[in-house]
Amino acid sequence: AHLARIDAIDEKVHAFLHVDREGALAQARAVDEKRARGEKLGPLAGVPLALKDIFTTEGVPTTVGSKILEGWIPPYDATLTKRLKDADVVILGKTNMDEFAMGSSTENSAYGPTGNPWDLTKIPGGSGGGSSAALASFEAPLAIGTDTGGSIRQPAAVTGTVGVKPTYGAVSRYGMVAFSSSLDQGGPCARTVLDAALLHEVIAGHDPLDSTSIDAPVPPVVEAARNGDVKGMRVGVVKQFRGEGYQAGVLQRFDESVELLKELGAEVVEVDCPSFDLALAAYYLIAPSECSSNLARFDGLRYGRRAGDDGTRSAEDVTALTREAGFGPEVKRRVMLGTYALSSGYYDAYYGSAQKVRTLITRDFEKAFEQVDVMVSPTTPTTAFAIGERADDPMAMYLADLCTIPTNLAGNAAMSLPCGLAPEDGLPVGLQIIAPAMKDDRLYKVGAAVE
Ligand code: GLN
Repeated sequence: AHLARIDAIDEKVHAFLHVDREGALAQARAVDEKRARGEKLGPLAGVPLALKDIFTTEGVPTTVGSKILEGWIPPYDATLTKRLKDADVVILGKTNMDEFAMGSSTENSAYGPTGNPWDLTKIPGGSGGGSSAALASFEAPLAIGTDTGGSIRQPAAVTGTVGVKPTYGAVSRYGMVAFSSSLDQGGPCARTVLDAALLHEVIAGHDPLDSTSIDAPVPPVVEAARNGDVKGMRVGVVKQFRGEGYQAGVLQRFDESVELLKELGAEVVEVDCPSFDLALAAYYLIAPSECSSNLARFDGLRYGRRAGDDGTRSAEDVTALTREAGFGPEVKRRVMLGTYALSSGYYDAYYGSAQKVRTLITRDFEKAFEQVDVMVSPTTPTTAFAIGERADDPMAMYLADLCTIPTNLAGNAAMSLPCGLAPEDGLPVGLQIIAPAMKDDRLYKVGAAVE
């Protein structure tokens, strides 16, 4: 049924870069056979899922939304892919994304934009716009995203779906193409809080193949999602996340959510996080710096596409020509920015300062979480903007992640879930819930209560 739905509408939505029809049907048949044999089935047996094209899939193309990996067929599965298969999930295919997960609209994909199913002229968020659009258009009931600065939560917000960035280190990065390794985190996307929790439990957990993977039990997220409750909880409203640049309808729906939390028995206070105002600036030094190092491996010699190799050119020239042809403008911009910020003479002024700001942000969180159990804010300052509207204005694009980035810098957990439609444009608004590291279950407890 989901493949038929994809056939019917994906030409318009363009959520998928690759539909793995054969693979999906084979996985589904394998589940049926297991069932017929009376074997124990995985926890998500037979449930279809849309996988962001940043995770390697053995024998199935993985492009990261980039021309530089066009035609590359990975010889191995990411740990996350393997876990999905072990849970008997049916992987429908690979979803569209901003190239190397750099963007907030999916317009930076080398393979063309994805439409927001609520209004195809609007962006579905980014970088994981393909995954969120697949959910919102009922092409898949579950999806996977990655969140370096908001790429799970912002797409969830603008498509009226649920997205969770787990605590940093909760979900293995092995086989997840690296953008900014100290920020990157895979996570679950779904249409309900409980669905997200069921997927969360399948993909989280220690992996010896990822040196930053947390070696501790996964928080009880499914139990929390089944027992939504905020009675007696202390909820902090982030003072910094409103004011200029926030759409009236977004703030209206957010304020209603805060009222609902009070009605349900939560104690609401304001929390002050002054360093959050610097988060965007710090992020746009740290993320490009790490990306300039991570993307050095795309040299035209090891993976995917190679340009200009006519037998007369040096390896260096082939690498330069491959990158020129293979990387899009946003990727080039970030590699240049990051290389500059890391160069001797500028390192302390830029990268060093950004790391200090990162520490201040972490302290703001620590202080706030001494007073409250969770924090809340709008997920994004505005609802979905029009395709093309911010494409030529990187600074305007970066603002889409204003409220989501602090969590990535500090490494704690956050969720976005729908909280109604903005009256002025009828588009979905996202409520962000933020929890301390390794307290991911609180997101689900609160999320399920207000859903
Ligand atoms: N929009 C942010 C960026 O462009 C975040 C991307 C992400 O989370 N992958 O870097």
